[in-house]
Amino acid sequence: MNLGVIGHPIAHSLSPVMQNAAIERAGLDYAYIAMPVEPEDLPSAVAGLRALNFRGFNVTIPHKSAIIPFLDEISDGAKIIGAVNTVVNDGGRLIGHNTDVDGFIDAMHAKNVAAAGKSVALYGAGGAARAVICGLMRDGASEINVGVRNPSKAQGILESFAPHGAIKIFDWSGADFEVAAMRADIIVNTTPLGMHPNIGEMPPVDFSRVKDDAFFYDIIYTPSPTRLMREARERGHEVLGGAAMLVRQGAVAFKLWTGTDADEGIMMEKLKEMLDN
Ligand code: NAP
Repeated sequence: MNLGVIGHPIAHSLSPVMQNAAIERAGLDYAYIAMPVEPEDLPSAVAGLRALNFRGFNVTIPHKSAIIPFLDEISDGAKIIGAVNTVVNDGGRLIGHNTDVDGFIDAMHAKNVAAAGKSVALYGAGGAARAVICGLMRDGASEINVGVRNPSKAQGILESFAPHGAIKIFDWSGADFEVAAMRADIIVNTTPLGMHPNIGEMPPVDFSRVKDDAFFYDIIYTPSPTRLMREARERGHEVLGGAAMLVRQGAVAFKLWTGTDADEGIMMEKLKEMLDN
């Protein structure tokens, strides 16, 4: 059976190697391929994948929101987020999911950290932040305080999520966000600050004012560790990077398509090989 990922550009996607390693390890008769799709070709590409009876596919930039009108059903999480990263073809019905939500939360749980009852300070309010906020609310975070450089651009997040939990948007250089960050139990970076090649950057965290036992979660997966993770670890904080989230979102998609648990160890091994090269 066929699986794949659509996006543009797609040549550097890490998913084919991770997914094909899991397929081989499980001994399944599937193949996963990268398929470049230009924005104007999205409707015909989705129709083609349906006609070709693909069992499912991942969706990446720039199609994560644009694909929604072409699907038959959307999971509740993907609806609130406004983005789909995984499609399952159930006998001709295309169902959209967002496995970044499970990826983010499951990776955190694997470090024995849960958001239930916790105060969270989150940097950034882009596409990934939406999945992260959805996961944090589902996990029971008591409050989510989002710091951004430009609060007016983040109002859409407030509209989507305020009906579902306690969330506020702040200018991250203001005193109010500093106070919110001081009481945070979990501090998450969803900006690209620190991502390769800008590895010297990090969001504006004031380490002298955060809780001693605050947990730092940077969803960037290259490099690992990021500057934020290194600086937090040097001060004795527990940290987590984005590779575990990336593997987990892929494993959740794999299970939706195949009904089989993916070997996440082999997926992580292949991911590390790719990131090191
Ligand atoms: P995005 O939609 O472009 O959003 C980025 C957010 O960061 C926006 O709020 C943006 O603010 C802010 N930002 C960007 N550059 C900034 C800068 N120089 N200074 C201050 N703020 C800045 O990106 P995304 O899709 O959410 O991805 C964000 C990061 O998450 C990337 O590093 C990506 O690799 C990572 N990610 C990891 C996983 C995983 O599985 N581990 C999954 C998805 C994404 P403005 O609106 O003001 O530009």
